[in-house]
Amino acid sequence: MSETPAKPPARAAKSKELPEHLKAYRHVWVFIELEHGRVHSVSWELLGEARKLADTLKVDVAGVVLGPAGEGTDQAVAEAFHYGADQVYLVEDPLLTNYRTDPFTKALTDLVNTHKPEILMLGASTLGRDLAGALATTLATGLTADCTELAIDGTSRALAATRPTFGGSLLCTIMTLAARPQMATVRPRVMSMPEPDRSRAGPVIRERLDMVEEDIVTKVLDFIPDADTNQAQLAFADIVVAGGLGLQRPENVQLVKDLAEVLGAEYGCSRPLIQKGWMTADRQIGQTGKTIRPRLYIAAGISGAIQHRVGSEGADRILAINTDPNAPIFDFAHHGIVGDALEILPALTEAFRARLAVDRLAG
Ligand SMILES: Cc1cc2nc3c(=O)[nH]c(=O)nc-3n(C[C@H](O)[C@H](O)[C@H](O)COP(=O)(O)OP(=O)(O)OC[C@H]3O[C@@H](n4cnc5c(N)ncnc54)[C@H](O)[C@@H]3O)c2cc1C
Repeated sequence: MSETPAKPPARAAKSKELPEHLKAYRHVWVFIELEHGRVHSVSWELLGEARKLADTLKVDVAGVVLGPAGEGTDQAVAEAFHYGADQVYLVEDPLLTNYRTDPFTKALTDLVNTHKPEILMLGASTLGRDLAGALATTLATGLTADCTELAIDGTSRALAATRPTFGGSLLCTIMTLAARPQMATVRPRVMSMPEPDRSRAGPVIRERLDMVEEDIVTKVLDFIPDADTNQAQLAFADIVVAGGLGLQRPENVQLVKDLAEVLGAEYGCSRPLIQKGWMTADRQIGQTGKTIRPRLYIAAGISGAIQHRVGSEGADRILAINTDPNAPIFDFAHHGIVGDALEILPALTEAFRARLAVDRLAG
């Protein structure tokens, strides 16, 4: 007689309900990234975004500052209020002088478990990416990395975190329904910089690290700053001029550089130019390159593929130069010139050079 084998127990369906003990989590937190006495500007951009989310949720915004006692840390706390924090959580300890995963993860994990924020945001910088991953693991919660948009879902009160997916061909919105806090990282310059209000101040809640050097496996032997001052500062430039495959030959990259020089701008490119070795990787604009937010972006011979668009559409004004009137870039550019970039770029360079010379003479 044959016996029907017993069925394996069905896997419990993952609950989408927030467990009772997590319902008390409230407020929106931003990790203020302080390194060598300076705060990364993405932290202020995130505070601006946190304000909007907190206003929708009718809760407070808090900044989290981790660092050694001293002027840099005091300044970071004061500025966190200026950029919108209602309160600041502060852990001061010499072990937090240089970034190391262990002490920073412990400090933030303890803060979260004690004070229970519902949303925690970090910059998608090198430091922020490392810390966010470690933290989401110790807190057993969800993390959406490299978000391009953050909002509150009207029905669930959850953070709706939008980011590119499938190689940037689609945007998806992710919600962490059954765990807290909801974590997100955002790249520099994706969110706009809020205006600081220097009159703002607030309460500082201090906590201890409770760790000794022997607990930390990583040792910092020395700090050697990057000596390459020629690195592109695309993310922070007011004007960016970029070229794409429409430039056709490597020597035509010079036309982009010439216009950038006259305008006091940074220059960049689409990804294929990096792959061809026409420009260095730090000049790539787009999903897998830099996100830019200049006042003016001039894109010459760039089609405007979605991966390029997500890194450039935050510009205040976009001027596209393209021979194809149906190029996708004209869907999001504010001004368009249908024509040959190899003729238009030098013409613009000469026109700006002449105009700026007149302006200089006029004083
Ligand atoms: C996972 C993934 C990540 C990616 N990340 C990025 C990224 O970060 N950044 C990025 O840029 N791309 C990225 N890409 C590549 C992206 O999909 C496009 O292939 C790329 O942006 C196209 O570059 P392009 O516009 O220079 O070239 P093309 O798409 O070939 O466009 C060239 C344009 O130049 C125009 N043109 C031709 N001759 C002239 C002329 N003489 N004057 C004026 N216009 C002319 C053409 O009409 C055309 O519109 C990524 C792709 C993948 C799959």
